[in-house]
Amino acid sequence: MAKKKITPMMQQYFDVKRSLPSNTLLLFRLGDFYEMFHEDAEIGAQLLGITLTKRSDYKMAGIPFHAAEQYIGKALQAGKKVAICDQVETPKPGKLVKRSLTRILTPGTTIEDNQLESSRNHYLAAIEFEGKEAELAWLDLSTGEFQIASSQSIDDLMPVLTSIDPAEVLILEGEENRWRAMAQDGTSHDELIHFLATRAITEIPGFQFDADSGAQAVMDTLGVINLEGFGIEKSHSALGCAGAVLHYVTENLRSKPENVSSIKEYSSDTALLLDPATLRNLEIFRSTRGTREGSLLHSISRVKTASGARLLEQWLIAPERSIDELQRRQDCIERFAASPVASSEIQDLLKSVRDIKRILGRIQNRIRNPRELGGIRETLKQLPAIIEALRGVSSTSVDTITRGIDPLPHLTELLNRALKEELPNNLSDGGYIALGYDEALDEMLSLTTDNKLWLSNLEADERDRTGIKNLKVKFNNAFGYFIEVTKANLNLVPDNYIRKQTMVNGERFVTESLKKKEKEIFHAEENSKRREEELFTGLVEATLEDSKSLNKTAAALAELDVLLGWTELAREWDYCKPQLDESESLEIDQGRHPVVEQMLQQEAVGLSSDQSFVPNDSQLNASTSQIHLITGPNMAGKSTYIRQVALITLMAQIGCWVPAKSARIPLVDRIFSRVGASDDLARGNSTFMVEMNETANILNNATANSLIILDEIGRGTSTYDGLSIAWSVVEYLHRDEESGPKTLFATHYQELTELEKHLDRLENFSVAVKEWNDDIVFVRSVVQGAADRSYGIQVARLAGLPSPVIDRAQEILNKLESDDATVTVSAPGPKSKPRKKIRIETDDKQLDLFG
Ligand code: ADP
Ligand code: MG
Repeated sequence: MAKKKITPMMQQYFDVKRSLPSNTLLLFRLGDFYEMFHEDAEIGAQLLGITLTKRSDYKMAGIPFHAAEQYIGKALQAGKKVAICDQVETPKPGKLVKRSLTRILTPGTTIEDNQLESSRNHYLAAIEFEGKEAELAWLDLSTGEFQIASSQSIDDLMPVLTSIDPAEVLILEGEENRWRAMAQDGTSHDELIHFLATRAITEIPGFQFDADSGAQAVMDTLGVINLEGFGIEKSHSALGCAGAVLHYVTENLRSKPENVSSIKEYSSDTALLLDPATLRNLEIFRSTRGTREGSLLHSISRVKTASGARLLEQWLIAPERSIDELQRRQDCIERFAASPVASSEIQDLLKSVRDIKRILGRIQNRIRNPRELGGIRETLKQLPAIIEALRGVSSTSVDTITRGIDPLPHLTELLNRALKEELPNNLSDGGYIALGYDEALDEMLSLTTDNKLWLSNLEADERDRTGIKNLKVKFNNAFGYFIEVTKANLNLVPDNYIRKQTMVNGERFVTESLKKKEKEIFHAEENSKRREEELFTGLVEATLEDSKSLNKTAAALAELDVLLGWTELAREWDYCKPQLDESESLEIDQGRHPVVEQMLQQEAVGLSSDQSFVPNDSQLNASTSQIHLITGPNMAGKSTYIRQVALITLMAQIGCWVPAKSARIPLVDRIFSRVGASDDLARGNSTFMVEMNETANILNNATANSLIILDEIGRGTSTYDGLSIAWSVVEYLHRDEESGPKTLFATHYQELTELEKHLDRLENFSVAVKEWNDDIVFVRSVVQGAADRSYGIQVARLAGLPSPVIDRAQEILNKLESDDATVTVSAPGPKSKPRKKIRIETDDKQLDLFG
């Protein structure tokens, strides 16, 4: 087949397309549309639900440029990358317009407002491994927040990697296949494989991970000559990942990121670690159903601003282990609680605060529109009143926050004076600079006004002059200004009218003076728009001069927002300030489950019942009362109780007050939470295998400063297997002479309660129930001592099993519990046969584990 000659435009298209990474849709600006061609057109049409057009030699599909953002968002969500190729000069007829690649948007590098969730950070991460060691860097390009971490073991980094929930992950070329192979033969990290399977992964060449050039790239980006100011060694092993992130971002922005001005090291030594299984089990960021509602995050959030919401999530991702920092937060809450009027006033003011960090991020990275500056103006407007209200709440901790807020009076004044009240979303719309700000602009605008007046007078004048009563002066995009005369009046049209277009009902004309005026109008409009853009650039520059102060202010406002929210929460639910220390003993007086308590109340409102949460005490001590074994029937409240202890501890370690009458919380290094045999089918592993993996992880990593929550461990296998495993896990946790991790173990294995006699630091507890005739009533209180029965049949009755089934179960149980081990199977056999009798032997071997 003869090769067809391609058009110059197609040549231009292919030149750009060739330079792009795979999996990238190229949007090629063609007039008012972004067009996709060839294979991209097919993929795009399907993905975005738009029409595929077939030309003789190629396929194309287009989206209108003004609606592009929405389509781009859709493509990104589907894990695609989108390259934007714009026209970079005004098109001239008969000449190929110059185009160039302006940006590549990827799931992790987009900063467009409506492609980001406002209350969450949006991270791009890079991971690298060597053996068991792992390095990690992550950047939120929309806010400039940049962090690195490295560790001897990937186990230590999985918690933070899972919590930051990156939108896109950069890995070494070929790495993905290597991991898959490792997953096959069981040598790799299961959590990691599972994690990566659900994200957008981008493989990049190895040299981009080079540590030396990484360090250099970081220093260049931050504008420093070493990283000491950030407490980071030049030789930090995660700088290779940081470099990879910066390289990738720069490539996609087609220029350096301008809003990255600091870098932080995340360290598992200074943060409380919550591994992925614990995050799931304790429902920290999402409930087990996958919703925000029902999560701890949702229950303790009372923020009014997007950046407050992000800060709260950051605090939960890396809970503190520094008492000083936690006491600073607690202190603020205490002060705010004592000044309710000022506090709610500030909260009200915060509602008008805009997302300064993200606005600056966009402005700095060349995405600009008038409304963004309006957002800064709106925020600045609130600051004097916020500072004033904070003066009344003064304390050392509060003052630190207040000092971070810079009211920037000169910038406030400038933006107030320069910008109109209502602002358009597009620069090209014009009309956003206030009257009186710039003389030259005002003159241009008055010229336009004069011309418009001339036009409106023209209609009246021409009607008078010609006697055509319904003569109209109109405007459209194709013809500009014209005079319209209906058919009936065409005989009255004067000589100086020049015919432009014939319509069904009449004709359209222009005159020499109208043409001249039109030119003047266009010219004036073009000039005024250009002038407005110039002035806008000036305002942007003025704003960016204060970007440091603005970012600091934004950070202070976010803290204020979270802490005032927690004050509100503490008042609303009667929380207490926990006493923090580094002792061995944890004491909670009348603790409640923060999420279940709120849900019960909601239900109670719905059902107008008065079911309220029953508080319970907890007293654990690493060297005297280390392991609590909790028994009790199903539905008694075991799971809720043990989780509440973990959640209260976690809340204390983010600085929040806690749902209890009083609490003393020793800082912990890790919280582990495991649930037996949760149906984790999605992950393709046998549930029991998962359960054991997770348990192994605890046994290998828990220290005397850890808190462990075990819920029905061992349930995933046969009774004796499960019991034996549970038994030996408890013994192992108790192995040290002196002390061990504080552990709450809920179990239905009655046999385990025997352990109390043999292990010093283990104590039995049970969730009490009241018996009433054959029924039970849940009282939800945790008492010392083992549960004496399991009440399975009573629970089954409560659950609504038909009464013949319940009665029969009771009968079988009675027989099984008596010495007579013969149970007659009751089943209707085939009519012809007599009913069979089957003997079932109970296992008469006694459990004799102590020998
Ligand atoms: P178990 O683990 O013993 O089977 P759960 O902890 O799952 O029991 O609790 C069962 C239900 O009881 C929960 O759904 C919760 O609504 C309710 N519940 C648990 N603890 C309390 C409590 N302290 N006060 C009120 N209701 C509770
Ligand atoms: Mg349970």
